[in-house]
Amino acid sequence: MTTIILKPHKEESLKRFHPWVFSGAIARVVLDASHKAAAPEEGELVAVRSSNDDILGVGHWQVGSIAVRILAFGVEQLPKDYWQQRIRAAYQVRETLGLVREDNNTFRLIHGEGDFVPGLIVDVYADTAVVQAHSVGIHCCRNEIAKAIVTEVPQVQAVYYKSDDTLPFKAPIEGEKTGWLHRHGDMASLRKDDEFWSQENGLSFRIDWLRGQKTGFFIDQRENRALVERYAKGKDVLNMFCYTGGFSLYAMRGGAKQVDSVDVSQKAIDLVEANVAKNFPKAKNHRAVTADAFEYLSAQKAAGSTYDLIILDPPAFAKHRDAVKNALRGYQRINAKAIEMIRPGGILFTFSCSQAVDKEAFRLAVFSAAAQVGRKVRILHQLHQPQDHPINIYHPEGEYLKGLILYIE
Ligand code: SAH
Repeated sequence: MTTIILKPHKEESLKRFHPWVFSGAIARVVLDASHKAAAPEEGELVAVRSSNDDILGVGHWQVGSIAVRILAFGVEQLPKDYWQQRIRAAYQVRETLGLVREDNNTFRLIHGEGDFVPGLIVDVYADTAVVQAHSVGIHCCRNEIAKAIVTEVPQVQAVYYKSDDTLPFKAPIEGEKTGWLHRHGDMASLRKDDEFWSQENGLSFRIDWLRGQKTGFFIDQRENRALVERYAKGKDVLNMFCYTGGFSLYAMRGGAKQVDSVDVSQKAIDLVEANVAKNFPKAKNHRAVTADAFEYLSAQKAAGSTYDLIILDPPAFAKHRDAVKNALRGYQRINAKAIEMIRPGGILFTFSCSQAVDKEAFRLAVFSAAAQVGRKVRILHQLHQPQDHPINIYHPEGEYLKGLILYIE
């Protein structure tokens, strides 16, 4: 196996179980005899040693500033049943969390570094797992991973692979980036995609992993949606950036008077309408609108409309560190527009899922918005990502979702 030797003292973060080796920390690469090229192949399993020749771990090689992502520390080979071990351990946590129930068969099974498997995301929807690779190393292991999921997770009968948007482009990649990795008999061909439903806390959601965003659904807002249900009774609610309408369904179940769901994507609005019709077939208090958030809020303001409860869950405004400044301006602008439209005694749920924007910076942007509008604002709750999107204590970069619930006088 190829061995990566680090520069002196560069082993310290690995000894504290941080799973990344940066290219600048590498002194030299000792290629094994099978290599024709002068460098390891992207996705190859490599061993990592310190300058004193201590064994540090084994991981996937990648091209870029993160050169190795460690899968196992203190060893030079992965155990034979590595994937089964990791998936079994992750599933046990989800069972302990009470997420595996008849009325809740939607959960994240593997959250990358948070479950000690850098580069891998697995979401479970009823009998189907959707696998997403963020590294070529994980792509190369996709069939073994699918086999381990089917073996270890009793409810899963089929595994779909969806990595067309997430695989890095630095190396040519062999094999398909999307498609079925496992199917039980011809079950998946018997089921039309449009009829695929998954349960979250007793609500049914149509999951469209083929055409939908990410793996098809945003599981990470489950706990925060439950809080909307708690506050929605009798309220006029606006769910801005609604996607599949998760927050809207919880608000309706919580007894909201009226719920307006807004998203710029027509595909998202079609999903919201299907979800509302399935869960509340007789409801007359839901309106779905295809519109840009800023334009919708400006038009509503001009028309003199107000709401009791607004949810703002925008896409990541900053995908990279260099975009943070603009992102903060965006958060301030959209939050100011929402705060203006909230009736006295109303509530704002506001979120940022940009990993590059930390919770202090986000709170400062919301503070600036409140000050700009000049309302009395209290923080009722500080929100974060749920337990099935765990943060590895050695990898604080895994924290990404933050939110505030504000009471606006
Ligand atoms: N709240 C959702 C997830 C939101 S994801 C949930 O609970 O599932 C972000 C959504 O914002 C996407 O559906 C995307 O289509 C939408 N979006 C992106 N830019 C937008 C804009 N300018 N105006 C309105 N919606 C937008």
